[in-house]
Amino acid sequence: VPHHEEEEEHIFRSRYQNVQVPDNVTLPEFVLHNAESYSDKVAFVDVTTRKQLTYAEVVRNTRRFSTALRSLGLRKGHVVIVTLPNVAEYAVIALGIMAAGGVFSGANPAAHASEIKKQVEAANAKLIVTNAANHEKVKGLELPVIVVGEEAIEGAINWNNLLDAADRVGTSLVKEQVHQTDLCALPFSSGTTGISKGVMLTHRNLVANLCSSLFGVKPEMVGQVTVLGLMPFFHIYGITGICCAALRNKGKVVVMGRYDLRTFLNALITEEVTFAPIVPPIISDLVKKPMVQEFDLSRLKLQAVMSAAAPLAPELLNAFETKFPGVLVEEAYGLTEHSCITLTHGDPENGYGRSKRNSVGFILPNLEVKFIDPETGKSLPKITPGEICVRSQCVMKGYYNNEEETARTIDKDGWLHTGDIGYIDDDGDIFIVDRIKEIIKYKGFQVAPAELEAILLAHPSVEDAAVFPLPDGDTGEIPAACVVMAADAKESEEDIVEYVASNVAHYKKVRVVNFVDTIPKSPSGKIMRRLVKDQMIQQTQSR
Ligand code: AMP
Repeated sequence: VPHHEEEEEHIFRSRYQNVQVPDNVTLPEFVLHNAESYSDKVAFVDVTTRKQLTYAEVVRNTRRFSTALRSLGLRKGHVVIVTLPNVAEYAVIALGIMAAGGVFSGANPAAHASEIKKQVEAANAKLIVTNAANHEKVKGLELPVIVVGEEAIEGAINWNNLLDAADRVGTSLVKEQVHQTDLCALPFSSGTTGISKGVMLTHRNLVANLCSSLFGVKPEMVGQVTVLGLMPFFHIYGITGICCAALRNKGKVVVMGRYDLRTFLNALITEEVTFAPIVPPIISDLVKKPMVQEFDLSRLKLQAVMSAAAPLAPELLNAFETKFPGVLVEEAYGLTEHSCITLTHGDPENGYGRSKRNSVGFILPNLEVKFIDPETGKSLPKITPGEICVRSQCVMKGYYNNEEETARTIDKDGWLHTGDIGYIDDDGDIFIVDRIKEIIKYKGFQVAPAELEAILLAHPSVEDAAVFPLPDGDTGEIPAACVVMAADAKESEEDIVEYVASNVAHYKKVRVVNFVDTIPKSPSGKIMRRLVKDQMIQQTQSR
């Protein structure tokens, strides 16, 4: 067959110039670069405990912790599970693991013991870092456990004692060379299908992501930003987008271990937060909750909020802008498999500018993006929605111990298939219009339908089940299920809701259950989730 009519590939790049990514640098070296010059400046302050760490303490404790880990036997490539709420020491823990050659794997502190066990096993972890409140969940796992905080817990290694012991060892133990191509993080994500998998990220992946996402930071902004550390640090959005970005720019992170609106507003005002990365449900609270009126918003120093992790409804954006004039809303889009931020607002030409309203932003420097027809795989021209694919140095190395899912997600030309549908316009602004992958995003948290289906199927009265997202105003989406019950089953729909809730972290629980006769499946046996979902929406509307 003559091949002279090579089809044109439609590949899009940033409207800004590419940026340099330094060679041969690890993530801890990159973010703590020049930290000595800021030694007395506060890097982290915890709003609940008032615990704070200066840049000098961050550098010193990162070094001490990595030495301590080596003396505990941690070696290159060993995974450490960290199951902690956001605390002042969090970044020191993550960077200490990486500096020792280890791999940081954050786990949601809200997870059940059984869920943490699954992550520990899937990651083949060698060590756990937690706090007194969560120790109970991990103590049966037969791994060394480090407990952060003052408390001495039997059978666990106390954080303070560990660091003190490191002083006696000195730094002589950390001699193994860590390379930029080595793994440094293993966050868990379900990607486009199936259950949660370890996402292998290298030092290079994360350094490249920071270089791209911080490209617009002007020298005079270094040391000036106070950022809210509310998004979970176990998630890549928190550890890279907040902690590492702030450290690199010598900013201050105001750490919040859990969300409630009053503490949040107090922190914004009293800590003079200038930049708050949040998610749409919090924007919704700021717009709708009467409590906001109790605060003197004229005292806010807030310049911008970033809204990421889930779609921001246009009405919410409008209402926020009316209520908080002068505070810019920068939407951003990213995914764990791409080391965090991928598309963003924030225009270097005019400071904190923005792309078009309701666009998720433009392509970051150094990235290539294309939109493909999910059926044919062909790349599509502008203004034509297709599956967003990204190619860059930020693309994960693959899923841990899972070549099949890796091959399904990253194609032979290096394109990461995101499972999101979007298009680009003439100005390079991108709009997300749909999602074809399975995940449910509840308040920005990932919930994997396959995981909940497995739990449902383990119930003796459940014969078949399908889990899918139902659109929900306040939270974005809620996990819902259609369930086929055995003929002699006695349980009610509420019983099944309860049953799932007792087996998973609260944000994953199925909030609506409908009993049905059959679950529609494709000829290959795959659950037709979209059809199930549409049927359920129709049913609820006709009730
Ligand atoms: P995660 O790996 O947990 O960060 O989840 C990534 C997924 O969240 C993306 O593939 C999208 O489906 C969704 N997502 C992230 N940011 C946005 C956004 N700004 N708008 C719409 N969906 C988003």
